[in-house]
Amino acid sequence: MEWETVIGLEVHAQLLTKSKLFSGSSTQFGAQPNTQACAVDIALPGVLPVMNLEAARMAVKFGLAVGATVNRRSVFARKNYFYPDLPKGYQISQYELPVVQLGRLMIDVDGMKKEIGITRAHLEEDAGKSLHEAFEGLTGIDLNRAGTPLLEIVSEPDMRSAKEAVTYLKKLHVLVRYLGICDGNMQEGSFRCDANVSVRPKGQHAFGTRAELKNINSFRFVEKAIDYEVARQVELIESGGKVVQETRLYDSQSNETRSMRSKEEAHDYRYFPDPDLLPLELDEQFIKEAALGLPELPDAKRERFVREYGLSAYDAEVLTGSREMADYYEAAAAMVPGQAKLAANWIIGDLSGYLNRDSLGIGDAPVTSAMLAGLVCRIADSTISGKIAKDVFDAMWNGEGDADAVIGKKGLRQITDESAIERIIDEVMARNPKQLEQYRSGQDKLFGFFVGQVMKATQGKANPAQVNESLRKKLGDKPA
Ligand code: ADP
Ligand code: MG
Repeated sequence: MEWETVIGLEVHAQLLTKSKLFSGSSTQFGAQPNTQACAVDIALPGVLPVMNLEAARMAVKFGLAVGATVNRRSVFARKNYFYPDLPKGYQISQYELPVVQLGRLMIDVDGMKKEIGITRAHLEEDAGKSLHEAFEGLTGIDLNRAGTPLLEIVSEPDMRSAKEAVTYLKKLHVLVRYLGICDGNMQEGSFRCDANVSVRPKGQHAFGTRAELKNINSFRFVEKAIDYEVARQVELIESGGKVVQETRLYDSQSNETRSMRSKEEAHDYRYFPDPDLLPLELDEQFIKEAALGLPELPDAKRERFVREYGLSAYDAEVLTGSREMADYYEAAAAMVPGQAKLAANWIIGDLSGYLNRDSLGIGDAPVTSAMLAGLVCRIADSTISGKIAKDVFDAMWNGEGDADAVIGKKGLRQITDESAIERIIDEVMARNPKQLEQYRSGQDKLFGFFVGQVMKATQGKANPAQVNESLRKKLGDKPA
């Protein structure tokens, strides 16, 4: 039987507010345990929550960016459950009336565009953290994270493959960073994803029973966890079993999912409107101001890059992967008129390679956009070849100055003087009579040997196009 995969994602994006959702404690990551948890966060009796308006502004920005309805009135609800890292005994979330509803995100998988529905995005507070490794036989509780604002973004079950799910997730990841509402750090848990996965016979309308996969902390693992889970469900059904609705934990070490608990139902949480909080009411002005604060969004920027710089869709996609990268590119491109494509190649190729190698963000690149532009100019005006440019780039990266300084200091200026190149060719021919003989008797492949010898003799500095041309003349006119 042929099976179809159905996936819906729940993403928790930690909002970049300075203080928590309902208290003034700092949200800074990495502080000593329990140094950033005030009376509200640790739920001392009698404390009252006070809503952080900045979190609402961020949620509204997100809603506008995904073409959603921004509800002028939304309601905070208590979601009741017991867990050691939740001293209140409930989490403040939004249930029936979320701040954002009915949005969408367009994804592009293998050239096919597809719209993924966003059911809702609601504000909620994070819980604390249980530290299982810190003490022998004991569990530590760190409440620094308790009360940190999250935007939970729930998708429709619109995705049909792990690849679509990862594409959607990456797109969301880029978007929240563009909006400046989340740092997207998956290792630190600022951007987390639960994947709901089910399968159904192809052609069947009704959805199958879903499992919810937790603990997926990288894009790669999202894909692997879903693939594993789909195979497990298909195998289970085909051997006569039934998928049960449950929460499963993904184990990246063994690449499998394990049952964690049977799925709780909404009524288990006894949701009710939080009596300590007024409904969140946003006026027109507030929403307008949030709209004015929106940056150019990734899709628009990508399309503009194609139009304005003549880039391929792929190049534009990579270069608009973050605002910093896009800004870097635009700054460089502005300094190299007519060489926008060459500048793009250097950023996507060598610069990105070095950033990855050294685990640096583009903001920390030792080669600035002006330095890169300088390099591109020297390639464009034939001062250096593309190959030598790689050495210049490396030297710039290591702090040896800008392109002109490196070229001057190391004597890398390209040899374009025709008579000089011909002289070197003569020497090479004189040194290799046997190869010359073989070439002239029909071994065309040896042309490359001569090119190599000339480049070697000039330490790679001869202009390759000129070497080819002059060699062809000297060796007898055999096109390579
Ligand atoms: P909860 O997990 O809190 O019960 P929901 O019922 O709103 O929340 O559903 C959560 C996610 O599960 C949504 O992203 C939705 O698209 C997805 N989902 C619902 N039904 C299925 C299904 N049969 N297969 C795959 N995903 C599903
Ligand atoms: Mg869920």
